Amino acid sequence: MIHDTRIDCRQANPLLQPLGARERILWARDIFADDLVLLSSMQRTAGVLMHMFHDLGLPNEILFLDTGYHFFETLRLRDDYVRRYRLNMITLYPEITTEEQEARHGKKLFTCVDGQPECCRLRKEAPLVAYLKSKQTPIIVNGLRRQEGGRRAQLPILSPDPRTGGYQLSPLCDWTDEQVQGYVSEHALTTHPLHAQGYPSIGCYPCTTPVRPGEDPRAGRWRHLRPTDAEAGPQYCNVNFTDGGGI
Ligand code: SF4
Repeated sequence: MIHDTRIDCRQANPLLQPLGARERILWARDIFADDLVLLSSMQRTAGVLMHMFHDLGLPNEILFLDTGYHFFETLRLRDDYVRRYRLNMITLYPEITTEEQEARHGKKLFTCVDGQPECCRLRKEAPLVAYLKSKQTPIIVNGLRRQEGGRRAQLPILSPDPRTGGYQLSPLCDWTDEQVQGYVSEHALTTHPLHAQGYPSIGCYPCTTPVRPGEDPRAGRWRHLRPTDAEAGPQYCNVNFTDGGGI
């Protein structure tokens, strides 16, 4: 489908700011049609967005990156959402299996600071970008929020994604934790069972641990790559361009 994709984000963001999340998604759908995709991590905000796509009757693709290192609960939740809401779920796989990757590099990349970025690139960013290159102007919807802090504290609603020549839309960027939980409760959404077991942020099982009371919600990610809890380490997998992606 041919559509006008010359969007100036500096002009679009003030227009999108007063809209609700559903209206932001519909705005993008009107412009980008089937090039609009949702990238789902199966975490709480992904559940909100998957439900919105269902509720709006959008047939657009929902992308899930199967790294080969997911918790069993993550894969089961993906299947639960597909069954319950009849979602157009596309599971993307890396070019090589986890066993091939470990044989090629002679180690498990996620076990060392200098290997983790390549592991995330190979298993997340590369398959996503390769898939999106088949589209004219892809626009990735994600569940990032400013309240998460860090690089996300100043997150725009709409950003360019130079990796694909497209865009990233974060319709929940100004939602609070309470708004997310309110939506989950109102619509009786199933959420990832590990959220209730001390995991506010969930990625691959080798790189995700629960957080202790008072810790940053992302403190459980790549904890094994920080010599002490006070020292800096990886914060993001960079599959989202605004987190630092750059394949
Ligand atoms: S989160 Fe860990 S296991 Fe998953 S892709 Fe990144 S480094 Fe690899």
